[in-house]
Amino acid sequence: MNLVLFGPPGAGKGTQAKLLTDKRGLPQLSTGDMLRAAVAAGSPLGLRVKSILEKGELVPDELVIDIIGQRYDQPDCAHGAVFDGFPRTIPQAEALDTMLAARGKQIDLVLELKVDDAVLLSRVEARIKAGGVLRSDDTPETLKHRLGVYYKNTAPLLDFYRAQGKLRTLDGMAPVGAVTAAVAVILDGPTAG
Ligand code: AMP
Repeated sequence: MNLVLFGPPGAGKGTQAKLLTDKRGLPQLSTGDMLRAAVAAGSPLGLRVKSILEKGELVPDELVIDIIGQRYDQPDCAHGAVFDGFPRTIPQAEALDTMLAARGKQIDLVLELKVDDAVLLSRVEARIKAGGVLRSDDTPETLKHRLGVYYKNTAPLLDFYRAQGKLRTLDGMAPVGAVTAAVAVILDGPTAG
């Protein structure tokens, strides 16, 4: 099964993706994690994207399409994957459909975690208050910018996937366990949990 976890920055996509990996053995394919690893390693890709990530802008489509294609061809994706933070633009979604079709696969479902902007901002503020290690883009200012990018470039994908009949929307403001239970109901039917 190939799933897309969809939603604004800080909606909880990564948290749900990790739970899907643990429970269903579907690897989490997070382009954000892959790009941060490239930055940390100081690779040519990392050097190219570092300032883009810090500003909360989108990395060029062809770069993320390329890294996701390479990652998807690893053996652990043989039975599918959870896409987290990809696709983020219409060209990325089209490239993903083409890549999967070439392998006889498809996106089965897109799970949208819906969270109000004010809640996303209060989550960042809570992380800052709690201390700990924060990402360089985990600030209220950068979040506001990333939300603008989300509504402009990424939210149009909701219509793209709705038209394909694949979109399911969940309340991402519910407690983590309730979101996980709602995901299970979508994937396994009402008797799940
Ligand atoms: P994330 O961890 O998914 O929030 O991604 C962190 C940052 O990585 C984003 O703000 C973008 O700069 C970059 N990024 C991650 N995924 C993509 C993508 N699919 N397309 C373009 N840029 C991306």
